[in-house]
This record gives sequence, C-alpha cells and structure tokens, in this order.
Amino acid sequence: MSPLYRCAAALLLACGLSASPAFAAASCEGRLGTSRVMEVQAAGLQVGTKHFPQTLDLAEGEVVLTFDDGPHPGTTNMVLAALSRECVRATFFLVGRAAAAHPDLARRIVAEGHTVGHHSQTHPMTLADMPFEKAVADIEKGFSSVEKAAYGSAAPQLRVPFFRFPGFGSSPQLLDYLAKRGVGVFGADLWAGDWNPMTPDEQLRLVMERLDHQKRGIILFHDTRAQTAKMIPAFLVALREHGYHVVHIVPAGVVTAAAPH
Ligand SMILES: [Zn+2]
Repeated sequence: MSPLYRCAAALLLACGLSASPAFAAASCEGRLGTSRVMEVQAAGLQVGTKHFPQTLDLAEGEVVLTFDDGPHPGTTNMVLAALSRECVRATFFLVGRAAAAHPDLARRIVAEGHTVGHHSQTHPMTLADMPFEKAVADIEKGFSSVEKAAYGSAAPQLRVPFFRFPGFGSSPQLLDYLAKRGVGVFGADLWAGDWNPMTPDEQLRLVMERLDHQKRGIILFHDTRAQTAKMIPAFLVALREHGYHVVHIVPAGVVTAAAPH
C-alpha cells in the first residue's frame, strides 16, 4: 500500500472523530461532519417513533442517518461517496442476500467507518406474516450473511446487534425473540417515503420540510434508490446550512445471546 493511500484511508476513518484531530479538522473543515458518536445498548432496545413509543435520546437538531436494503451496485457507491465528502457516518441496514451478492460493497461500508446493521436475509413483506420459525430462520440467515460479507466471518455473537424489520413488520413474538437474543430494533422517526417515485429535488424538499417540523430523529432512506443516491449530496449540504448535527450510532459493549437453534 502506498504511503499516500494509507494516508487517505487513515483520514477517512479519522474524519469527524478524534483519532487524528489536526488532520481531520483540516480535511473536514467546512463540511457537515459527524458531531458525536452515540453508544447504544442494544439488548431490549426498541426505538423510532414511527414504530415504537420511544426513540433515541437526541437533542434538538440531532439526526441519525440510516440506509436500508443495500448494498446495491452504483447507488450505494454514490451514497458512500457523498457521506465521505461531508465526513459523515451513517448506519446501513443490509439485506443478507444483497450483502452476499456484493461483499465488496459491504466491506467498503465497514472500511469507511459506518455501522452495519441487519435487515433480514430475503426482505419478506412482512416477517410478521410468516410462520414464526420461518421468520426467525430468515432473520438469522441475514445475520450470518451480512457478517460474513462485511467482516469475512460470522459467529452467533453479532458484531453489531442492530436490526430493522422490513416494512416495520414486527410481531410481539419476534420482538421478544430479538430482545432475548440481545438485538436492538430500530424503527425510524421520519422519512421522505423514497420508495415512492419522485425527483431528487422533490425528495429533498419533502424530507427537509419534515425535519424542520420534527427537528431531530432517525431518518430512513434506501441506498438502493437512484433518486435517493442523487439527492444525498444536496441533503447533506442542506443539513449543514440548516444547522443540523449528525450522530453516529454504534453498539455499546456487545453481548448477544447465541441463536437458540
Ligand atoms: Zn427494507
């Protein structure tokens, strides 16, 4: 690896954090940046007011950026490039079979310092409508596919025990299973509804209107959507101009129970 490349990689990982403050400050000057890292105790966690009564403890103006359904060639790269330019870290809830098909992208997400959470193996709509055992099997297969793709190996103890239900389709029984497994469940507080076709400009206007109304929260996007990938650069600039701060969520002291079967 050339010294220049090493330097660039180190810079990327240090951006917005304290590993190399002088370096990071220089390269991230005038950028949105990541304002703080929030360590999240995953076991029993259920957050996101679109799905649950409570959410993360965010101050006014603080947002957590999340991207579902990837990785996806083309669009995920665009999103990663935009996040890197603005020195911002996000959380990607990966679909197991997509991660298995594109392990290079899963590894790139990890290498660039983002958090990799889980979003099932096959993205059933919904897990709550399936027999419980089948739903659990899909969730567990997703855990191992994503971890193998992102880190090269999988073990019962998850590196990042964060899960989001496809279509927010949870059931009390599945929520109980994940709580016992030590896995935190993330909903969201707002979105632009990027599964609906709209132009990047329309999407930007919509999400900023909603954010300016709610003032904080976990924001849900899909890095598989071209309209979203095109919108993200302008969205990050808008966050900076409107005075928002990006919070990066990471798991605190990971202790997860083994899969029961
Ligand atoms: Zn999804």
